[in-house]
Amino acid sequence: MIEIEHLKKNFGHNEVLKDISAEVKKGQVICIIGPSGSGKSTFLRCLNMLETPTSGKIVFDGTDLASLKDGKELDQLREKMGMVFQNFNLFPNMNVLENIKLAPMKVKGVSDADAEKRALELLDQVGLKDHAKQFPTSLSGGQQQRVAIARALAMDPEVMLFDEPTSALDPEMVGEVLKTMQKLADSGMTMVVVTHEMGFAREVADEIWFMADGYLKEQGTPDEVFDHPTSERAKDFLSKVL
Ligand code: ATP
Ligand code: MG
Repeated sequence: MIEIEHLKKNFGHNEVLKDISAEVKKGQVICIIGPSGSGKSTFLRCLNMLETPTSGKIVFDGTDLASLKDGKELDQLREKMGMVFQNFNLFPNMNVLENIKLAPMKVKGVSDADAEKRALELLDQVGLKDHAKQFPTSLSGGQQQRVAIARALAMDPEVMLFDEPTSALDPEMVGEVLKTMQKLADSGMTMVVVTHEMGFAREVADEIWFMADGYLKEQGTPDEVFDHPTSERAKDFLSKVL
């Protein structure tokens, strides 16, 4: 579904991604782990062109993303990739239902009634059916993040990208968000998840990608990466987080 070939990304002289090649297959759940500053967010943002790669290639469903022109073509690409951030980024002036309905109606031209029906289904799926009319500030962090997930799903994306979706949450709310994500994974959604939740990664991921110093130092099943890491960098990192 997504092929990444020799991806490099510099910010000025800072070479953040040095040479990354990997593939995300349809239905796979990939968890990306690694130390702070290693380029995980930058990598994820390159996948949907929130950052423009310095060199290398990203091919999504057969389309080389570099061939897309700004504007409409990029928007169409981003519609296929749902993104969930650490800080929810809900629209504060809209209630939950309006947050979820907005993009399908505005971008895809879905009717109000159809958008509402789908939004309510998604709210049910994330366990928030009874909160449709509330505003984001009246919800807990965990609830807000589940709304953000529902909002991303409302565009019927082919893949969901998560950047540390539980890092900003109070500990007691992490579980409900991870459970929502696990359900999504079980439903067959293709997911790329940057996370520090090693239990979730071990349980749910098909593949773990360990990123450090601008490279993917390890790629393998959870058993391979967690129990039999080959690089010193990964052994050292895992000894601190497991
Ligand atoms: P964390 O675990 O703390 O979220 P990360 O692995 O996601 O870290 P990135 O946020 O991708 O790391 O940052 C990698 C490097 O790129 C850092 O040195 C950071 O300062 C730099 N960087 C990221 N975004 C930009 C930007 N827009 N402009 C300049 N430098 C940037
Ligand atoms: Mg990050």
